[in-house]
Amino acid sequence: MSMNLVTLLYLVASVCFIQALKGLSHPTTSIRGNVFGMVGMAIAAGTTAALIVKLAQGDAFGLSYVLLGLLVGGGTGAFMAQRVEMTKMPELVAFMHSMIGLAAVCIAAAAVLEPAAFSIADAAGRIPGGNRIELGLGAFIGAITFSGSVIAFGKLSGKYKFRLFQGAPVTFPGQHWLNLGLGLASLFFIVGFWHSQSWLDFGLVLALGFVLGVLLIIPIGGADMPVVVSMLNSYSGWAAAGIGFSLNNSMLIIAGSLVGSSGAILSYIMCKAMNRSFFNVILGGFGGDASAAAAGGAVQRSVKSGSADDAAFIMGNAESVIIVPGYGLAVARAQHAVKELAAKLTEKGVSVKYAIHPVAGRMPGHMNVLLAEAEVPYDQVFEMEDINAEFGQADVAIILGANDVVNPAAHQKGSPIYGMPILEAYKAKTVIVNKRSMAAGYAGLDNELFYMDKTLMVFGDAKKVVEDMVKAIE
Ligand code: NDP
Repeated sequence: MSMNLVTLLYLVASVCFIQALKGLSHPTTSIRGNVFGMVGMAIAAGTTAALIVKLAQGDAFGLSYVLLGLLVGGGTGAFMAQRVEMTKMPELVAFMHSMIGLAAVCIAAAAVLEPAAFSIADAAGRIPGGNRIELGLGAFIGAITFSGSVIAFGKLSGKYKFRLFQGAPVTFPGQHWLNLGLGLASLFFIVGFWHSQSWLDFGLVLALGFVLGVLLIIPIGGADMPVVVSMLNSYSGWAAAGIGFSLNNSMLIIAGSLVGSSGAILSYIMCKAMNRSFFNVILGGFGGDASAAAAGGAVQRSVKSGSADDAAFIMGNAESVIIVPGYGLAVARAQHAVKELAAKLTEKGVSVKYAIHPVAGRMPGHMNVLLAEAEVPYDQVFEMEDINAEFGQADVAIILGANDVVNPAAHQKGSPIYGMPILEAYKAKTVIVNKRSMAAGYAGLDNELFYMDKTLMVFGDAKKVVEDMVKAIE
C-alpha cells in the first residue's frame, strides 16, 4: 500500500467522522451519523493495520505483537459494548477516556525511549525540539485524562467505598493554589524536557499530570459530573492529537482534534445547562458543598402517596400532562411502557408532552436516546427552555425516575445545585412522582417537591408502575 493511498484513505475516514458529528447533532439524523462514524473508524483502523503490516515486513515477531493487540483490544471492546447496559454507559465512556489517556502516555514514553523506531530521531539520535514539546504536552494531557477519568469512573459508578470515588466533592483549603502550583511546575518540567530531553523531566511531567488529574476531578460534586464527562472527552481528544503530531499520523491528529473540539463545545453546552462557568470547570474549580450534599434525606417527613390507579385517574381527567423522564426511567427500562401510557392518554384527548432536561440520566442526551429507542414521536419531545413556560398551565406533571433535574433546591442559595436550571414541574397544578423510595438523587439532596400538598408520590419500579397506569386508563 503506497503512502499516497494511506493519506487518501485517512482523508476519506476524516470526512466520515465530520459527517458523523454532523449527523449526531439531531435525533432524526443520528442513525446516519452513527453509520458514518462506523464506516470512518473501519477505514481508519483497516488502513492503519495495512500500514503496520507494510512497515513490519520481515519482522514477524513485531507483526504478531500488533495483531495480538488488535485482536485483544477489538475483542474486548466488542464484548464490552454488547454487554453494557444503557445506564452503565457513562462509566464505560469514562473507562474509555482513561484508556485513551493511558495510550497517549505509553506511546509518548515509547517514543522518548526509542525515537528512531518512531522516525523522530535526528542524526545524533536526539528528538527534535518541536517533537519534544509535542511529546511532553501529549503525555501530560494523557496523564491528566487517565487519572481524572479513573476518578470520574469511580464517581459515576457509585459502587465503591473509597472516599475519592464518592459523589460528594472532596475539597481542602488551598486546593486551587495547589493545582495552580502543580500546573506551573508541570510547565516548567515540559520546558526542561524540551531543553534537555531528560528522562527525569519527562517522568516528573507524567507524575504531576497523574496527580493533577485526580486533584482536578475530586472537588467536583455529583450533579456537576456531566460537565466532567464531556471535559474528559475533550482532554482525551487533545491527548490523541498531540501524540498524532509526534507520530506524524494525520488520522490521529484529525480524529483527536475533532474529539477535542467537539468535547469542548459539548462541555460549553453542558456548562450553560448547569449554569456553571466554563473556566471554573476547566480548572477543576467548582463543586458543591459536601456537608450540604450529605445532609440529603436526614430528616423523616411525611408525604402524600397513592397507587398507580390513583395517578391514572388524575391523568385521565386532565387536559394536559407533561412527562418528565429521569435516570430511574432508564434503570427500569420503562420507555416502551411510557410511550404506551402517552398513547392511551392521547387517545382520551389529553395533550401529552415530554420535557427533557439536558443533564437528566447519566450521559448527555440520555433521555433523548431512551425515548428514541421507544420511537416516541420527536414532535412530542421538548427541551427544557422550550417547555418550562408550559408547566404553569399544565394540569399534571408526572415525574418518572427523575429527582435532581426537578429539585427546587436549585433556587436556594447555598445548595450544592444552586443556579442549575431545573424543569419547573413544581408549577404544575398536580405533580405525580414515581420512584422506589424517598432516597436522594445523584446529588444526594432531599427534594422539597416531594412534600408539596399538590404532590402525589407513587412508589415502585417505574416499569411496573407505568404498566399499571396503562392498565388503569380505560
Ligand atoms: P437522579 O439521579 O437525580 O434521580 C433518579 C431517581 O430515580 C432517584 O431518586 C431514584 O430514586 C429513582 N429511581 C432509580 N431507579 C428507579 C426505578 N427502577 N424506578 C423508579 N425510580 C427509580 O436523576 P435525574 O435524571 O433527575 O438527574 C440526573 C443526575 O445525574 C443529575 O444530578 C446530573 O447532574 C447527574 N449526572 C448526569 C450526567 C449526564 O450527562 N446526564 C452524567 C453524570 C451525572 P429511588 O432510588 O428512590 O427509586
